Amino acid sequence: MQTRQLYYRDPYPHTFEAQVVALKPGWVALDQTAFYPEGGGQPADHGWLAGQPVTDTQIDEEKVIWHQVSLTTAIGATVEGRIDWLRRFDHMQQHTAQHVLSQAFWQLFQAETVGFHLGEQVVTIDLAGPELEAAALDQAEALTNAQLRGKLPVRCFEVAAEMLPAATLRKLPQVETDIRLVEIGNFDLCPCGGTHVHDLGEVGLLKIVSSERKRGNLRVAFVAGQRAYQDYANKHDQLACLSALLSEPIANVVAAVGRLQERLQELEREEERLREQVLTLEAKELRSAAQKSGNVYCITQELSAHSLDEAKFLASYLAEQGPSIVLFGLPDEPYRLVAAASTGVAVPLGALLKETVSKYQGRGGGSPTSAQGAVPSSAGPRALAELAQVCSQALENC
Ligand SMILES: [Zn+2]
Repeated sequence: MQTRQLYYRDPYPHTFEAQVVALKPGWVALDQTAFYPEGGGQPADHGWLAGQPVTDTQIDEEKVIWHQVSLTTAIGATVEGRIDWLRRFDHMQQHTAQHVLSQAFWQLFQAETVGFHLGEQVVTIDLAGPELEAAALDQAEALTNAQLRGKLPVRCFEVAAEMLPAATLRKLPQVETDIRLVEIGNFDLCPCGGTHVHDLGEVGLLKIVSSERKRGNLRVAFVAGQRAYQDYANKHDQLACLSALLSEPIANVVAAVGRLQERLQELEREEERLREQVLTLEAKELRSAAQKSGNVYCITQELSAHSLDEAKFLASYLAEQGPSIVLFGLPDEPYRLVAAASTGVAVPLGALLKETVSKYQGRGGGSPTSAQGAVPSSAGPRALAELAQVCSQALENC
């Protein structure tokens, strides 16, 4: 038997008494209920039945409303129900605000609402029709807020299909019987089965928070009522913190962050320049301490305080300074080998490195002028020394 839906007659009472009419594991059905079942984009009510928490409410094809609750009871028992009013009133505020915003987009831009989702954080509507710029969104938001301030009355009533005032409806009903219309002053008229406030003054405020293209439509996200106030309060707190961190009034925060970003980029460029200078000086030192084989400098060095990129820069820089073979080891797990040889130094650097590291369960390779590899850290110094040896032998043989 169809459950009597108390929230249609009046969505405000949040306690009620009812009789248990059906049971299935974890779910209870009553002869009447104030719990709104999930549907039409609005989430299910939560609350308590006989003091036990109700965590979901669903309606089946026979229009029986089921409450998800862990409750030991019997058919015919009388139970007291209480809905989570803060959650429900929030849904009423969001849902009513959605009607007003949808009508605003329709009146201003003939943009039809084709989707609605009441989420935990934000509410979204999907708009079909023209592309809308940010200024258009501002306009729809302003019209909505003007209506909210106007405190228009909200009236819900049922109408027979043949009496439907189709011409004045924002959209046509999806059901053929039990058609319920929601009228907001003379601003909006639309079929809807959700719960709404009595007067737009109870919503008070709406703020659009984002928009994005989604499957050919424009998805607009907003917050209304208490959510909008909370959003304002949170954002104000964040900005006040930023303002204190920057020692700037809130109005100057954006410009101050812009200046900080510029300064950071300048410092990054300066750091890059200084780093190159330091590496160049280091290269000079390494070269002056190097052994020579004929006219070729042989530089073998373990670098403990350098990144892989710095080692590569240093090796190729040294190789450019005159005939040389440069071999670096970077102690880490794995131990990395970075090698470079000047063009014209006839040593098969890549092949030699590959052969050496493979003896130590390592991997690597490269070209005659640049090569890299890695071996387990315990074998690192031995692999570096052996590579230096095979390179100097190759140099003597050529
Ligand atoms: Zn509605």
